[in-house]
Amino acid sequence: QLYNQVMDLKGSIRVYCRVRPFLPGQSDGQSTVDYIGENGNIMIVNPDKSGKDARRMFTFNKVFGTNAMQDQVFADTQPLIRSVLDGYNVCIFAYGQTGSGKTYTMTGPELMDEDTWGVNYRALRDLFQISKDRMDVITYEVSVQMIEIYNEQVRDLLVADVRSTQDVLDLMKMGHRNRAVGATALNERSSRSHSVLTVHVQGTELASGSILRGCLHLVDLAGSERVDKSEAVGERLKEAQHINKSLSALGDVISALAQKSTHIPYRNSKLTQLLQDSLGGHAKTLMFVHINPEPNAYKETISTLKFAERVA
Ligand code: ADP
Ligand code: MG
Repeated sequence: QLYNQVMDLKGSIRVYCRVRPFLPGQSDGQSTVDYIGENGNIMIVNPDKSGKDARRMFTFNKVFGTNAMQDQVFADTQPLIRSVLDGYNVCIFAYGQTGSGKTYTMTGPELMDEDTWGVNYRALRDLFQISKDRMDVITYEVSVQMIEIYNEQVRDLLVADVRSTQDVLDLMKMGHRNRAVGATALNERSSRSHSVLTVHVQGTELASGSILRGCLHLVDLAGSERVDKSEAVGERLKEAQHINKSLSALGDVISALAQKSTHIPYRNSKLTQLLQDSLGGHAKTLMFVHINPEPNAYKETISTLKFAERVA
């Protein structure tokens, strides 16, 4: 059956918001999340103000609170991912300031522990499982590609055909090694580059011989925090400018698509150029926006939620 019938998101943009918990040893002050309501509402409170003006409500397709587990988050993403096997192109983005939980959602904190796996591994595992279930009707070939965009330069980290989740896990480790930086430097750098994992799927229907193709882009974006211009100089300033430019270009593309605009400004960044065929038209887009509930992150939280509101 077509998974598309379960949740028809063709041409539409979905936005899910996820709030990460306070981290151990950091529970200073009150959460800026006042409450999460029904119907995708989230109420944010300004820690420096009181009264009515201190609160502001945002609405998304879904909001995951601090208790949401990885499998719950994935359950609401799964139909979209499965539609790739029916020939759709799908983009899933993780947006938010550094430390807000983007990599936690997409990759997870611990490769060795399947319960903590993020969307990327769960997606691959699911695609392999479904293709196995359909083996008598369609044979699928799956390949993965890992790309990093840093300072508007695109780097291929790896390309490979894969047959199992284990292949993918091995490859991911290799891809990370190919970034050719030390572990601490990796974390630093990953917050300033976009990392794109692309899964290409080609299915051949056994009876008719007809072929369908779909692809899934899983994008862990660079940190969205505004860098203070008075502080950033040299390399750091250049990086910040590239990040600002590409995130606003992405916002412009998605909001133009959401408004069904006739001109979609794909050409303003490497990321939107790269994903052009998978944004708009027949494609489906999901944006996870992440927020850090700590009071000192309030300003970034508001700017993240405003960005998300613009693309929703
Ligand atoms: P980002 O990729 O946005 O910079 P991370 O995903 O690295 O942020 O998350 C920052 C820290 O918060 C990490 O220690 C991570 O394990 C933790 N964290 C993020 N989201 C969650 C969550 N939903 N539950 C528990 N810990 C989380
Ligand atoms: Mg990260």
